[in-house]
Amino acid sequence: MNQIPDNLAAVQARIAAAVAASDRPAESVALLAVSKTKPIQAVKAAYDAGQRAFGENYLQDALPKIAALPLDGIEWHFIGHLQSNKTAEVAAHFAWVHGLDSLKHAERLNKQRPDDLPPLQVCLQVNLSGEASKGGVTPEALETLAVRVAELPRLRLRGLMTMPDPNSPPDEQRTVFARLRERLLALRDKGLDLDTLSMGMSGDMEMAIAEGATIVRIGTDIFGART
Ligand SMILES: *Cc1c(COP(=O)(O)O)cnc(C)c1O
Repeated sequence: MNQIPDNLAAVQARIAAAVAASDRPAESVALLAVSKTKPIQAVKAAYDAGQRAFGENYLQDALPKIAALPLDGIEWHFIGHLQSNKTAEVAAHFAWVHGLDSLKHAERLNKQRPDDLPPLQVCLQVNLSGEASKGGVTPEALETLAVRVAELPRLRLRGLMTMPDPNSPPDEQRTVFARLRERLLALRDKGLDLDTLSMGMSGDMEMAIAEGATIVRIGTDIFGART
């Protein structure tokens, strides 16, 4: 737990170095601290060190943390696999959803987003590695889905998210990041106002930043290995 501030500083230094190496503006990459499976005290330690955005995958694990930490400026991102019976609680307790990949879930979140909260910010997850087992919309279906989601008033479509197959060679993973950026640019050309590429984790954040990531999602290198 007392390593967390140092780990956080080291991750921020890596982000700053990667951003500088790709000639991007210093503030162009945001850090999402992935606190899944980690205790409330770990989130608090990162918050006290200045971190504000936290990513969680498992709703039942996240809700007690969210309730226990009503802290100024804290922001929760749902990055796990969405299920229909969980959308209401996701809509009520999170500021962002990164793994949206179906119109059905988008419509549920839109309907369930409480009126007293700003629109839920969403990224569409794109499956660019072709793994059948993985979540994400196919590249072929992406544009249609993006246009429909952008029309939903209680959602705010911000951009795209992807996860390369961690077992594929690094150059293939880098190609996946590059292709996600190409997809974002193509959607912008169609008139969609998108600014977010959610890509890069502990092992591959430098590559993702070189390919244009604007949010990196880092768990292990901040909070330690998950048990
Ligand atoms: C767990 C997880 C991360 C963080 O992965 P690390 O390798 O621990 O940095 C990022 N994104 C998603 C979607 C995850 O599930």
